[in-house]
Amino acid sequence: MTDLFIHDSAARTTRRFEPIDPNHVRMYVCGPTVYDLAHLGNARPVVVFDVLARLLRRIYPRVTYVRNITDVDDKINARSRESGEPIGAITARTTEDFHRDMAALGALPPDVEPRATQHIAEMIALIERLIANGHAYAADGHVLFSVPSFADYGKLSGRSPDELLAGARVDVAPYKRDAGDFVLWKPSDDATPGWDSPWGRGRPGWHIECSAMSWKHLGEEFDIHGGGHDLIFPHHENEVAQSVCAFPGHGFAHYWMHNGMLLVDGEKMSKSLGNFMTVRDILDKGWRFGEAFRLLLLRTHYRQALDFTMAGLEEAKAELDDHYAMLSRAPAAPGGGIASQLADWAVAPLLDDLNTPLALARLRDLRTLENAVTVGGSPAVAMERARLTVPPAPGVAAKAFREAAGVLGVAAWNADDWLKGRAPRADAAVPGAMLSAQVSHLQGQAVASGQHDEEADIDAAIAARLAARKAKNWAEADRIRDELKAQGIVLEDGPAGTTWRRA
Ligand SMILES: [Zn+2]
Repeated sequence: MTDLFIHDSAARTTRRFEPIDPNHVRMYVCGPTVYDLAHLGNARPVVVFDVLARLLRRIYPRVTYVRNITDVDDKINARSRESGEPIGAITARTTEDFHRDMAALGALPPDVEPRATQHIAEMIALIERLIANGHAYAADGHVLFSVPSFADYGKLSGRSPDELLAGARVDVAPYKRDAGDFVLWKPSDDATPGWDSPWGRGRPGWHIECSAMSWKHLGEEFDIHGGGHDLIFPHHENEVAQSVCAFPGHGFAHYWMHNGMLLVDGEKMSKSLGNFMTVRDILDKGWRFGEAFRLLLLRTHYRQALDFTMAGLEEAKAELDDHYAMLSRAPAAPGGGIASQLADWAVAPLLDDLNTPLALARLRDLRTLENAVTVGGSPAVAMERARLTVPPAPGVAAKAFREAAGVLGVAAWNADDWLKGRAPRADAAVPGAMLSAQVSHLQGQAVASGQHDEEADIDAAIAARLAARKAKNWAEADRIRDELKAQGIVLEDGPAGTTWRRA
């Protein structure tokens, strides 16, 4: 069995991963509050935990990955009041947008995607347990969690009682016994969504939603809880308090994983700074930029701050162009043997707290090894790193590349579609890397109309250029190349003739 090590935010150290049940690993990640398009920062935990889920599935026989949809929240209510659009329409549309955008980033759907509004009964049950255990109290139509009743409060975030108090709201509501107490349930007026409860018509606080949904789908305790670093306090601190106090003797999440923040051009992304970007803004550049953004996200270790720049996105796209060019040339080769050994070598850094930058470097080494066979170049350095004494046979490094790339969720598309900018199809050689539903989402976005005629025109231009070269009419050959370049068509002359790709 391969050992996986992950950094546990609660323990503040890297620990060997020991699942509660090695036959069934369970993970919960906080999902989106659905009132607006996903921004770049929202995409980071989705991609990071997608890689973790893929890695866990490679190691363990069964994995249940739960990521919720928060579809009851005061931000949604406020959006509906501003725009006049009914709440149900906002949450349905935004959930669909989220699915489409995350599919374009190559993120597989979680195994369970619970919606908060479908778990109100579980939330009420949890709150009743907390009241019965003396950890919560009803006051003035509200139910509050009593922070002083839980001695370990602040342990996850590492905040001292003084810091916690400073963090509590300045204007303390009169119904709170302690300034740090937080809302489990609050009353709703007639214009606000509400459900009947023992404390009157009302709605849940945000934190209780995740405690209820993880309980329902993963049980009183489970293996990994993930989310963005900005959720540690108060959201995750409060989840711990609720779940541990509702189920005494259970440890809730055994490992806590948090991804670092995403900056844009070195600054915190904000609407006021004018550097606010949605995932849709990136996809508007073309479907291939979805995977390019995923690669960019994985180039930085998940716990570090990540600086998004357009130049970085273009670099990631260029790296993928090179990967796909290699894949399009590589001959088919059998798996097993050296191919399996090389794939394990490329995936191994992920076992060390998801070291995606090193895993991506090893993919580049595999590309070098394959290219050495098909287009030349020296494989010596890559061979040394991969501990090979003889170069692999044609297609073997590409086979290993595909297997390892499938764990990272990159280079998942058909190479020719990518290079020629066609409507995408999944690469049939990468099983499970992409679902057909995800592919069909993207096909609608790609240039499909008139594509066939256009490709025939390009082939005709390449034939005309070849004829001009044979007639030593270099000026005409260059003119054709430049004309194609102006249309975004890049020609590559190789031993097997001229190929083309879309820039
Ligand atoms: Zn949550």
